[in-house]
Amino acid sequence: MPIQESNPSPGASLQLRVIPRDAHPISRKDISPNALRVLYRLRENGYGAYLVGGAVRDLLVGGHPKDFDVATNATPEEVKALFRNCRLIGRRFRLAHVVYGREIIEVATFRANVDDGSGDRQLHEGGRLLRDNVYGTIEDDAVRRDFTANALYYAIEDFSVRDYTGGFEDVQNRVMKLIGEPEQRYREDPVRMLRAVRLAAKLGFRIDDATAAPLPLLAPLLREAAPARLFEEGLKLFLSGHAVESFLGLERHGLLPVLLPETTAALKANRSGALRGMLLEGLRGTDARVAADEPVSPAFLFALLLWPAYCRALMALQAQGMHAAEAQRRAADRVTVHQLETIALPRRFSLPMQEIWLLQSRFGQRKRVGRLLAHPRFRAAFDFLVLRQAASDEHAEEVAFWREAQASAEGMPRDSGEAVDAEAGHEGAPRRRRRRRRGPSSLPA
Ligand code: ATP
Ligand code: MG
Repeated sequence: MPIQESNPSPGASLQLRVIPRDAHPISRKDISPNALRVLYRLRENGYGAYLVGGAVRDLLVGGHPKDFDVATNATPEEVKALFRNCRLIGRRFRLAHVVYGREIIEVATFRANVDDGSGDRQLHEGGRLLRDNVYGTIEDDAVRRDFTANALYYAIEDFSVRDYTGGFEDVQNRVMKLIGEPEQRYREDPVRMLRAVRLAAKLGFRIDDATAAPLPLLAPLLREAAPARLFEEGLKLFLSGHAVESFLGLERHGLLPVLLPETTAALKANRSGALRGMLLEGLRGTDARVAADEPVSPAFLFALLLWPAYCRALMALQAQGMHAAEAQRRAADRVTVHQLETIALPRRFSLPMQEIWLLQSRFGQRKRVGRLLAHPRFRAAFDFLVLRQAASDEHAEEVAFWREAQASAEGMPRDSGEAVDAEAGHEGAPRRRRRRRRGPSSLPA
């Protein structure tokens, strides 16, 4: 049996607004055919079936959702019984994945996030949510979501949009608004602070005053979030094509000092603003690459985000009289280790990130040119140098020298082992080497 409408719960007093098909722009031709298949199959079998979350929101603003999530009153086992290509995932809260080749439609049973006396919901002392594993009604499911814009349901039965939290109007007014009491919602899950900034940046929405107000005060709660989750969220903030807006949002709402403490301090200490200028230039380049469907790498991104911190640490060590090469290694390690306390940057990214930094000093030496050209991180490091040059104009000669070196190396016969991989830096990991190098730096700087 599908989940029964249960006893009064926080969702029960909500006002439902039904926006009929002719009053909203969501068309079935914009919905993935596989998601439609899932919705229809559930419906044919007597279950409620809705498209929900980011997909509905994105379709309302004319965007192209990257994935389509479905919500239903069928239990995961009931969903599984309807689809041969279905697997259940998650132990604490089970979800159904209906798999069509490379596309996965996630089907979630309505779920409640309430203290219903069952003891199934436990709050951490600070108000953080530890367990939320009770099924519920569609109203319960709506109020446990984060933002009103994310709590809209597109019903396959009549193609209407169901709105329990005022999200439809908020989307039209282009505003991100938390459902419920903002401070409490951030305490339950501090990552919602980053989601507010990220989604506002992505959608070009403003953050509602009451939703924005607690951000600078509660920012330190982010330190309690799982570092692995912050890494994932960091990639979404900066590698989804809205890095500049995300960065400015984090800065404006006081989240940057918690997310990137050493970089924030270094930017503040850098009176000329050159480091901030370079960082923003690099993020603009990243956004341009995403827009052009070119690969972007976490290693290059973090090399950029933590460069101010690295420079500052390096200067401090050298001021103590440490030899340059030693100081570079120590500064790179120090910055990485410290950053890992908040963001779990995997080694496969932190190592190439450090290489990009350490190679910078070798550009000035102009020695062992062939070896540097053949370095798997040469291309990323050179792109990084170009970025530094665009921001400060100090490295024009080095850029010219290494551009020339690449050009003449290209004209020479060589064995494949010496070829320079045009994308290794942006992919983060060394890839198949190519004989022929690509054209000039693909970063716009
Ligand atoms: P994106 O465009 O990045 O995918 P999204 O809103 O779809 O944005 P997801 O992480 O895919 O984000 O989450 C899907 C839905 O799950 C959200 O729209 C929201 O309704 C709900 N959700 C996600 N994260 C949270 C959270 N931390 N707290 C409450 N609800 C959440
Ligand atoms: Mg999503």
